[in-house]
Amino acid sequence: MVIKSQAVRLYPNVRMKNVLDALCDYRRYCWNLGLETWNAMYDAYTIYKDENPKPTEREVRDELVRLKADWQYQLSSRVLQLAISDLGVAWSNFLNKALPDWGKPKFKSKRAARQGFKTDRAKLVDGQLRLDRPREIPKEGWSDIRVKGLRWMNGEVNLASIYRENGRYYANLSMECEEDDPLESTGKDTAVDVNVGHINYTEGMINTCPKKLTNLYQRIKHQQRLLARKREVNGKLATKSHNYVKTRAKLQRDYKKVANIQKNLMHQFTKQLVTEYDRLVIEDLDVKRMKMSHIASKGLHRSMFGLFRRQLTYKSLWYGKQVILADRLYPSTQRCSNCGHIKTGEDKITLSGNKKYGTKHNEYICYECGYTNDRDANAVLNLLALL
Ligand SMILES: [Zn+2]
Repeated sequence: MVIKSQAVRLYPNVRMKNVLDALCDYRRYCWNLGLETWNAMYDAYTIYKDENPKPTEREVRDELVRLKADWQYQLSSRVLQLAISDLGVAWSNFLNKALPDWGKPKFKSKRAARQGFKTDRAKLVDGQLRLDRPREIPKEGWSDIRVKGLRWMNGEVNLASIYRENGRYYANLSMECEEDDPLESTGKDTAVDVNVGHINYTEGMINTCPKKLTNLYQRIKHQQRLLARKREVNGKLATKSHNYVKTRAKLQRDYKKVANIQKNLMHQFTKQLVTEYDRLVIEDLDVKRMKMSHIASKGLHRSMFGLFRRQLTYKSLWYGKQVILADRLYPSTQRCSNCGHIKTGEDKITLSGNKKYGTKHNEYICYECGYTNDRDANAVLNLLALL
């Protein structure tokens, strides 16, 4: 069995909308109270190490269960359990500084655009989503929620992550499914180099910034400026105005559109890769993302690195293909794919080319053997050489 997930839109009726909203609020309540408790326990531990043990997820959860008030029994207990288990993950990430965006878990705001909760007791019944109903809540009026966008139904829902954004409701459903048959072996290998705006592989390049995305980026930039100006002029009050809220909703819709287009593009490409090749070499993308982090205006593009790696990893597992990760220190950009010479010091090529020789950012010229190639095509060949 494998776990697959799908994103769907939910159409709850008025009654179920209230239920969903209450659960979103409840998740935030549990998270914030859990974080407060954890912080306090952690402070006590750092000050008086002998008397206080290091707080664990279990202790925090038990404390919250002990403090449960009557009204909480009207709400799914799974929401509390899962909020605290996610908080536990956030805490262990905080203590592991190797992770790219580490930091202390934050309190969740009521004003955040996205509000959500998780449950592992939801079911799909006749193509509709059935939430777990606490015993204290009467059956009357508790109904299944209409779902749009289901791509498959064979399998049990392991975890439903439900959220509200701009007054619309969505769910990510993780489901346990039968394993796919492995795809036929092709005997071919490739290497992939993810860049801002395009992805290179052995057969050439695909464009990850089509015209419709460029247009959306421009609109997003415009709306962000509008909002910033409003904040500058009106200060804190700005966020309360009708126009501000309207523009912000538009902006959030555009972000969503960008994410959908990027996801589709990536799905097509990663499916093509696992279909056509047996072994795929890719760069360690955390490193790549750090190298690119100064290209702030392309911020929206950065998520593509993670997206690509996630999709390729799980698809290669589904279909019986192999992904090979290049070492973090492998000089895929500086190495000559013809003679293996590695550029160092002043000879290195940077994102703006090479000053000493006056080469452009996309040129690779080897002064040892005279080999020339496109910078990214050279990097792909270097990754392929790892096989
Ligand atoms: Zn060379």
